Amino acid sequence: MLFTPTVIKNLLKKPATRNYPFVVREPFPNFRGELVIDIEKCIFCGMCERKCPSQCITVDKQAGTWQCDPHACISCGYCRDNCPTKCLTMNDTHRKPMAAKVTWIEQGTPPKPKAKKAAAEKKTDEE
Ligand code: SF4
Ligand code: SF4
Repeated sequence: MLFTPTVIKNLLKKPATRNYPFVVREPFPNFRGELVIDIEKCIFCGMCERKCPSQCITVDKQAGTWQCDPHACISCGYCRDNCPTKCLTMNDTHRKPMAAKVTWIEQGTPPKPKAKKAAAEKKTDEE
C-alpha cells in the first residue's frame, strides 16, 4: 500500500511519451537531419567526398555526378561544413525509412576545362 500515492500520481499525470508518428517532436536548434544538395551550385571539387568519415559520397567531376549512400550517412555534417559553395544543407527531419537500399545520384553540369588546359589538350590531340 506504500506505493498507492505514486500510482495515483502517475494516473493523473500526462503521458511521458509521444504518440509517434502522430505527434512529432519539434526539432531542436542546429538539428542535423537529412542531407540536401543544390546540384546547380556544386562545382564537383570532391571536398565532401574527402571529408566524409563514412565514405558514403562519390563525386565524378568528368561525368558531373554526385552520389551518396544515405544508409551509410551518420549525419555528422562534415560535408556540409566543408563545402566551398555551401550547396549542402541539412533539413530538420530524419530520412524516412526505406524498404530497399538505394543510392542517391544527382546529375549536374560538369565544369568546363580551363582555357589553358583545353588548349594544351587540343595541341596534344593534334600531335
Ligand atoms: S564539396 Fe560541395 S561543391 Fe564540392 S563536390 Fe561536394 S557538394 Fe560539390
Ligand atoms: S553528413 Fe557526414 S556521414 Fe553524411 S554524407 Fe556528410 S560527411 Fe558523410
